[in-house]
Amino acid sequence: MKIILFGPPGAGKGTQAKLLSEKTGLAHISTGDILRQEVKNNTPLGQEAKGYMESGKLVPDALVTEMTKKRLSAGDLKNGFILDGFPRTEAQAKALDAILDGGIDTAFYLETSEKVVVQRLSGRRVCPTCGVNYHLTNMPPKKDMMCDKCSVALFQRPDDKEETVKNRLSVYLKESSSVLNYYKKQGKLENISGDQDALVVLKIVLKKLPALLKK
Ligand code: AMP
Repeated sequence: MKIILFGPPGAGKGTQAKLLSEKTGLAHISTGDILRQEVKNNTPLGQEAKGYMESGKLVPDALVTEMTKKRLSAGDLKNGFILDGFPRTEAQAKALDAILDGGIDTAFYLETSEKVVVQRLSGRRVCPTCGVNYHLTNMPPKKDMMCDKCSVALFQRPDDKEETVKNRLSVYLKESSSVLNYYKKQGKLENISGDQDALVVLKIVLKKLPALLKK
């Protein structure tokens, strides 16, 4: 099964992908996570991507597509995968269809209001060691802004700061309709409200999967 999670930053794509991956055994592929790792390792790709990411812009299609193609050719995807954060442009969606035999099965669109997005992103804090996300009010750590598991101080992603969030949202609004229309035309788009609690969204997605597998 090949699934895409699509929606604005803060829609909960990463959270859903993680929960879904645990429930179904599908591999979770996050292009944002791969890029952050490249930046951390100071690789040539990381050096190129850094400036775009820090200012909330999209990393150029050619770089991200090549990186995703490489990840999709790894040997751990026999059962399928959940793509989180890719595609973000129509060009990436087309490139993905060219990479995959028969394209994707379903694109879940987590339609999320701006109010919820801003509330989620401004309160998000991340563990630098294990990468787990917390939230100042919705999911605070047990103690002193430290990761429950790793006991290291949580940090705010530089691109979750207010100005960059605004940029990321406007980039998303500019590119999203073409991606949505692309999958709508293929009859592969499933709308779900991303404003809902993560476990409610997960339940809806899980309920839809068996029927989608039969298509
Ligand atoms: P995310 O963690 O998915 O919010 O991604 C963080 C940042 O990585 C984005 O704001 C972009 O700068 C970059 N990025 C991740 N995925 C893509 C993509 N598919 N196309 C272009 N840039 C991306």
